[in-house]
Amino acid sequence: MAINFTSLYYRNPYCSEFEAEVLRCEGPNKKGEYQIILSDSAFYPEGGGQPGDRGRLGHVRVLDTRFIYDEHVHICDGSLSPGQKVRGRLDFERRFDFMQQHSGEHLLSGLAKEHYGATNVGFHINEFEMTLDFDKEISEQDALFLEDRANEIVFKNLDIDILFPEEKLLIDLDYRSKIDLSGPVRIVHIAGVDDCACCGTHVKKTGEIGLVKLVDMIKYKGGVRITCLCGRRALKDYRRLAEQAAGISQAFSLNSRELMPDLARSLDKISALEESLKKRNEELVDILSGLAKGQYLLWFDPTLDKKTQKVVAKYAAEAGLAACFSFIPLDQDGAENQFRYVFYSPEAPLDSVQKALSKAFPVRGGGRGGFFQGQVEAAYDELCAFFVQEFGPELFIWPKN
Ligand SMILES: [Zn+2]
Repeated sequence: MAINFTSLYYRNPYCSEFEAEVLRCEGPNKKGEYQIILSDSAFYPEGGGQPGDRGRLGHVRVLDTRFIYDEHVHICDGSLSPGQKVRGRLDFERRFDFMQQHSGEHLLSGLAKEHYGATNVGFHINEFEMTLDFDKEISEQDALFLEDRANEIVFKNLDIDILFPEEKLLIDLDYRSKIDLSGPVRIVHIAGVDDCACCGTHVKKTGEIGLVKLVDMIKYKGGVRITCLCGRRALKDYRRLAEQAAGISQAFSLNSRELMPDLARSLDKISALEESLKKRNEELVDILSGLAKGQYLLWFDPTLDKKTQKVVAKYAAEAGLAACFSFIPLDQDGAENQFRYVFYSPEAPLDSVQKALSKAFPVRGGGRGGFFQGQVEAAYDELCAFFVQEFGPELFIWPKN
């Protein structure tokens, strides 16, 4: 395919507003879209891995720009009249972002070829990321080297020139090319870094690319696929990651500058807690297996909190007991003889036990049927004596003092 390099988007890739004449307008198609052809245009048509531009032509929106049967077509949501002059306005923030990504791709592909003999065999930009496919594997360390070198070239702010070398010069020029082109060959030239035949839009200076950050690398078709962010995208990603780091540091009360060692310590603590919980569950299973079905369990456990007390009492009772009477200290630092209690029985009503307890001690609590909870002011020995009197030899006390 011969490409017309005289279009406005080639003459001035920084052009964001222009005037042109409407040559044709066709449509609408089934989607309600119109195909508009202009006398000239700053809208880049999708090609070479770079998406087509969007923006406005007068009052209509340009949804996409494409080459269709060798024609430069603006896909629009409204119609325009042939012969009318129209003002075009690009979504230039979006286009400049693509120019940053695309130019960054040239740096990385040139460097990968120079240092590792890896050829870029696939390239794609979308709104979120840019992927580069290489035909050879690149190690993590080598990828870091490429990232460093690419950023050094950005800092040097080198020219990115567009050249159309004569055929005889082209023969001697060592340049990268993905497809065979007829007509003049457009070379994107970064002195000392890369020469590549390319039909996309690029920035004029490497400094405009901004930060080049490789964010992912996977094995792909015998080589690797690298995901890269350039310029504003890299900044946005840095901001996103920094926000996440701040969120994690807040959630775990960590120093966000030393997140990993601090987080590792917190995760160790969680592992230790999980281990002690596992031990606790094993102890629970031990206790339950020592009990006969239909027995009553009186259980004092200072390690449980209010929430787990309920869960554990229910779990214990449903394991085959007649009932579980669970007591935990009301306040870890408070008076010794005050307990929070949970009574649970899967079948027997416990109203009479609650009533008798209220008669014997100061109690605040309530419930019905097989579930009661509340607070009681009584000593461990007094509670043991009370339950022994209620249930006699069918009572199992844990722990026994
Ligand atoms: Zn290019």
